[in-house]
Parts: sequence; C-alpha cells; structure tokens
Amino acid sequence: MKQPFSSLSSVLSAEELVDFAFRRASKSAQKIPKNVPFFIKVRSKEKDRVRTAAKLISERLKRILKEMPRLEDIHPFYRELADILVGVGKLKRCLGAVNWASQMIDKLTRDYIHKLSKAKNISEAGNLRREAYGRMASILKQISNELETLREAQKLLVKLPSVNPEMPTIVVAGYTNVGKSTFVKQVSSAKPKIASYPFTTKKIIIGHRRTKHGKIQIIDTPGLLDRPLSERNRIELQAILALKYLAKAIIFIFDPTETCGYPLESQVNLYREIKKSLKKIPIVNVVNKADIAKKEQLKRLKEILGEEFMIMSALKNSGVEEVLERTLSILIEK
Ligand code: GDP
Repeated sequence: MKQPFSSLSSVLSAEELVDFAFRRASKSAQKIPKNVPFFIKVRSKEKDRVRTAAKLISERLKRILKEMPRLEDIHPFYRELADILVGVGKLKRCLGAVNWASQMIDKLTRDYIHKLSKAKNISEAGNLRREAYGRMASILKQISNELETLREAQKLLVKLPSVNPEMPTIVVAGYTNVGKSTFVKQVSSAKPKIASYPFTTKKIIIGHRRTKHGKIQIIDTPGLLDRPLSERNRIELQAILALKYLAKAIIFIFDPTETCGYPLESQVNLYREIKKSLKKIPIVNVVNKADIAKKEQLKRLKEILGEEFMIMSALKNSGVEEVLERTLSILIEK
C-alpha cells in the first residue's frame, strides 16, 4: 500500500511558473491558413499565446489540487504527520489559494480572448496580450507564499514512509543496541524494508509476517522510541505520539546485560515514559540477550521494573516466536 502523498509532484514557484508558461506560449506555433490578412494572423497568434500560457498555468495549479489527497479522508497517522510537518490548516489554506488563482486565470483568459477577438489593429492586440500576461503574473505573485509552502511541503510529504496503517502493527521500542532490529529480522517473513522518516536521520525498518490471523507489520523506529522523551523537542514528541495511530501493541526490549551501553535504570525509565505517553497501547515486556544474561542481571531488572517479562535471545532465535505469539494474542483481543 502506498502512502497517501507518494504521488505528489514537485511544485514550481510563482516566478518559475510564469517563466515556464510565457516561454512555452511564445514558442507555440499555431497553424494559421496562408491566405488570411496579416492583421488577422497577428491577432490569432496573440490569442493563441494567451490561451496557451493560461492553459499551462491552470493545468499546473489544478495538478497540485488533484494530487493532494483529501486531508479529511487519509488515515489519522498520516494526517498527524502532515500536521507536524506542515500544518493541516496551513495546507488547506494554501490549496484554497491555488484553487482561487486557477479560477481567476480561467476567468481572465475568457475575458481577454473575447477582447482580443474584437481588437481592431496589431498594436491593440499586442497590448491586450501583454495586459493578460501581466494580470496572470500578478495573480501568481499573490499566491507566491502559498506556492512556496506547498513546494516545501511536497518535498517533506513525499518522503513519508509507506506503511499500511490498516494492517495490525507492532512497534518495537527500547534503547539502541538492545537487539530491536535483530528481533524484527528474525520475525519477518522476508527481508525488512527500510524507509525514511522525516523526524529522524535514521531509517525505520518495516518487517511483515503472515500469521494465521492475517498479515501483520512489525516496525522498528530508530531515533524515536530509543531515547528519553524528556530530551525530545516538540516535533520529535509529536512524531512519537503519532505512533499511537499506528501501533496496536508495543514490544519493549530490555538488555539486562547492559552491553547496549545503557544502565538498567535508564532502560526502565524509558519504558515508564513510553508507557505513560502511549497509555492506550498494550506493551509486552521482553528481555533480550538471554544467551549471555546472568541470573543476577535478570533478578536486578525484575526488582527495578517490578513487572513480569518474557525472555528471548533474538540473536540465537530462541524465545522469539513465543514473544510474537503473546503479542499477537493481545492484538487479536483488541
Ligand atoms: P538495535 O539497535 O536495538 O536495533 O540493536 P541490534 O539488533 O542492532 O543489536 C545490537 C547488537 O546486539 C548487535 O551486535 C547484535 O548482534 C547484538 N544482539 C542482538 N540480540 C542479541 C542476543 O539475543 N544476544 C546477544 N548476545 N547479542 C545480541
């Protein structure tokens, strides 16, 4: 399934659009019968230039409107991301301005074609064409800020990852190096897909798995759920909270050996923060690296955490299927 913004094409600035349309219009070679008087030829040519320029501008503007999905209809996960990146209200205002401009250009073209049909000499036809161009440029100038916003928005939105928000999704959390991506690889049927996420420089990893209850997604989001939330800026926090629209369950992975580089206390703090911020999403507590973990380390984690956990070794592929089974049973209950 594609993400809703994947087909947005790049947006020209007001200036670029004017240059593009007028340059093309001046090249447009309309076929005019040979034996018509010179003045009629010139007038036809001017009409053709106005029509062509307007058509090119209007098409470009309408394309922006057509390619943008209806923001009310897209999945809340993507709507939330669009809101963080650009602002849904702002996007709508910009699209409204583009719609206005495209209608104005259409109307103006009709008026000028009519006026040109009545032009009485070459200089009047030339003046009318120049006037029409001037007015088209001025309409575009009036929406230049909005076009600029849409141009920047397109660059960001087109890069959002393609996840299927309708598919049951498990998000994997825990500090860096605890074994999240090793786990995702182990439980995915094929090689996990890698996608960019505009809120972090790291790539997110999306695995899929066929189960007896249907296909599910397992997502590792490096850079999001692997650092204390108190260290996050507003945008990162919102990007984390957007996961609530996607995740049906979270698997939180602890590394009791601390070979990941983070003390158990920090890991438990992160767990508590995530649990508090994403309240409604059930969390499965999992301890990884069972192959090298010592009894005392497990005991210490139990004391600090004060909750039960499952144990696995993602590297040795032991206990992994049980973790997935338990998480699936929660997904199905929900
Ligand atoms: P992530 O940053 O949480 O995605 O962690 P990785 O999956 O990249 O794993 C970090 C390191 O821990 C790698 O060197 C893995 O090979 C190692 N690792 C992952 N799972 C296990 C495990 O169950 N046992 C041991 N001994 N090492 C593991």
